[in-house]
Amino acid sequence: CGIVGYVGKRQALEIVVEALRRMEYRGYDSAGVAVADGAGHLTVEKKAGRLGNLETLIDDVGPGALTGTTGMGHTRWATHGQPTDRNAHPHVSDDAKFAVVHNGIIENYAPLRDELEAAGVEFSSDTDTETAVHLLAREYAAGATAGDFVASAYAVLRRLEGAFTVVFMSADQPGTIVAARRSTPLVVGVGDGERFLASDVTAFIEHTREAVELGQDQVVVITADSHTITDFDGTPTGGTPFHIDWDL
Ligand code: GLU
Repeated sequence: CGIVGYVGKRQALEIVVEALRRMEYRGYDSAGVAVADGAGHLTVEKKAGRLGNLETLIDDVGPGALTGTTGMGHTRWATHGQPTDRNAHPHVSDDAKFAVVHNGIIENYAPLRDELEAAGVEFSSDTDTETAVHLLAREYAAGATAGDFVASAYAVLRRLEGAFTVVFMSADQPGTIVAARRSTPLVVGVGDGERFLASDVTAFIEHTREAVELGQDQVVVITADSHTITDFDGTPTGGTPFHIDWDL
């Protein structure tokens, strides 16, 4: 299973699919991508089975439907819910303004799901993951974090228990991705006017050799020109920068 994210000046789709291809050796049962077009839309395509199935689907809808310079991708190893199209990631909020990909397990998903269903949210998958994106939409809609994607994402992350890597995108703030790790790996790739996220540096090594590894329980906010690493409370921590000097 693997996670990848991209914010920059190039088309995200090709970079994200290629990065998923490079992480195939990790094993997976489904794959998916999300791209933000910069005009308030997120487009998600996902498919059970091999990455080739997702690529066929993208060819069928036409890659032009996934135009945009911010994107993320996911290969799933199902833990909660069968390996089906509907359970594949990314998962989106009801208004399709937010998307999430996730590796690992959200241990407290059951009470979170109960809380959301009691509030009228309808789930479209059997995953633990989907709770995170509905929580995000609700944080963004009202209360102390209303209208603030990054603050809303932090508020959600503080509620998630377990071992996970989570990545959030917003249609309203397309040049920003928020990601976090708790026990599972996450690395930032630092390019010239572009930033990458991945479970593993092999995902982006053809694009940049400058990387920053997140520590345990850290959050990173990336834009094309910045990456800001904090703990789950938002206190700056920095990560561990390193240079990748080995060959492919
Ligand atoms: N628990 C999530 C799911 O079953 C993520 C699994 C993974 O690590 O890919 O959808």
